[in-house]
Amino acid sequence: MAMHHPIIHKPGSFPVPPNIADHEAMRRSFGWEEIERELDWLPGGGLNIAHEAIDRHCAQGRADKPAMLWEGKDGERERYTYDDMRRQTNRFANVLAGLGVAKGERVFTFMERVPEIYFTFFGALKAGCVIGPLFSAFGPDPVRDRLENSGATVLVTQPALRKKIAAILPQLPALKHVIVVNRDGRSKEPLAEGDLDFGELMAAASDELAPLSTTRDDYSVMHYTSGTTGKPKGAVHRHNSVIQQYATGKWCLDLHPDDIYWCTADPGWVTGTSYGMIAPWTNGVTQVVYEGGFSARKWYEIVARYNVTVWYTAPTAVRMLMKSGADLPRSFDLSSLRFVASVGEPLNPEGVVWGQEAFGLPIHDNWWQTETGAILVANYASMDIRPGSMGKPIPGVEVGIIDAEGNELPAGENGILAVRPPWPGMFQAYWNDQERYDSRFQNGWYLTGDEASRDEDGYFWFVGRSDDVINTAGHLVGPFEVESALIEHPAVAEAGVIGKPDPIAMEVVKAFVSLKEGYEATDELRRELMRFAREKLSPAIAPREIEIIDSLPKTRSGKIMRRLLKARELGLPEGDTSTLEED
Ligand code: ATP
Ligand code: MG
Repeated sequence: MAMHHPIIHKPGSFPVPPNIADHEAMRRSFGWEEIERELDWLPGGGLNIAHEAIDRHCAQGRADKPAMLWEGKDGERERYTYDDMRRQTNRFANVLAGLGVAKGERVFTFMERVPEIYFTFFGALKAGCVIGPLFSAFGPDPVRDRLENSGATVLVTQPALRKKIAAILPQLPALKHVIVVNRDGRSKEPLAEGDLDFGELMAAASDELAPLSTTRDDYSVMHYTSGTTGKPKGAVHRHNSVIQQYATGKWCLDLHPDDIYWCTADPGWVTGTSYGMIAPWTNGVTQVVYEGGFSARKWYEIVARYNVTVWYTAPTAVRMLMKSGADLPRSFDLSSLRFVASVGEPLNPEGVVWGQEAFGLPIHDNWWQTETGAILVANYASMDIRPGSMGKPIPGVEVGIIDAEGNELPAGENGILAVRPPWPGMFQAYWNDQERYDSRFQNGWYLTGDEASRDEDGYFWFVGRSDDVINTAGHLVGPFEVESALIEHPAVAEAGVIGKPDPIAMEVVKAFVSLKEGYEATDELRRELMRFAREKLSPAIAPREIEIIDSLPKTRSGKIMRRLLKARELGLPEGDTSTLEED
């Protein structure tokens, strides 16, 4: 994509020296042994994510350091040190052992962002189980599909959520134990027959644990993908991923020991575990967890109250913050913020630059996906930003732009974004779908399903998902470029762009936009947007049609579902909508 915004130059010196001083130099000399040496490992050479994230800090003199500052949606506040985390996760590992749950069994959570989800996650990893978190807003069917597909034997949930899915539980023959977390006795109803009480099990379990016995190759975390392009796939990772999660927390989020870090993603999505659990705690920082949902005011309050220094969020959140204006952040003391990053969708240049206006800091976009386990392309603290670019590959991994035969394309050409396998965080399977897994590896590359280009200086530019790229009168158009142009108009809050079949042009570009408050959907505004887009983009790529709608269909993790816009436009079946966010 062409650059419309000036480069954001980074200063020569920083209050906190960035963990990567010179990205290019480091990429040339780096080897993964350097990072492997910074981890603790288990006696005998094993590797366990929970040990690296929690226990080793206790053994290395950081037992009393706060690991988690938790704020509930009703304003409750709790604080857990690394040693609290160690003992609670030991307990849960012992609970699983006591129930006879064996290594490799799938333990799933269906919970809100309460402290117990963190105990369960790392406790299950200590027990050698595969942990799979499900997003709490799912209805019964998506939960059933995922528990069925994964053959989960344990489900940890909460009373209201348990009630929501009561009807599907008898349909899951593999599920042996349902454990219910009744926080502070929030629910007065008795447990359903056969269910186990989390609090009672934990109280009865020892907080000391036998030595861990996992290896780097044992399965660890399993996540179903976001379902943006189709039916979600169960991507399975191994303990080895911690190497890259630790490294990228340090390099791409620039985590330093004194940081107060906040990741806004829910553990139901990979960002919420790789960067809401593993990366921050392996880096030994204090992390804020907020149970509640989005509210611009509340979010700024959290940053201010906890003195958050590093903030990792998503473009959809940035767009919502933008919608509420740049005056609101100025009414809070956000001066603790030092580094802000975003992932999940392309971050429009407008968003990067808005960070400057609102916080005095640009927002650092980075790219990865459930399958890659950790960040692969990023904007680093020390590196100049080209707004709209997702940055450059991390040290130690080769990322390429290739054609259908696997040949690398020259700078400036759009092609398939591909990764040279293996890399430390690489997924090991799509659960029960070997064929699909194998189909992603071709000609010595892993195919990401995204299209991108690289410029002369090595910056990567996202074009679109391969499925979403539009072919109009011989031009290949990435929706991102058109959407980014549209949201530069003051009336536009969000935009989603699709290709609509056309007898002459093959496809024509159609845009759906939602408006900021105070703007009305008039024909005049629509015509103005058409003119605006034609001026910004060439007439060949500018949308032929613009439709103003109330809101864009999105996944529950906030990604625009262009395939739904298209299906609805064409009157086709909507396909899998299990992750669709309902307004
Ligand atoms: P599904 O695979 O089920 O369709 P999904 O691809 O949205 O869902 P995730 O693994 O959560 O599931 O998302 C990864 C994808 O999100 C990437 O492949 C890419 O398309 C998009 N993405 C993530 N970060 C960025 C970014 N910084 N810039 C552009 N796209 C991004
Ligand atoms: Mg995907």
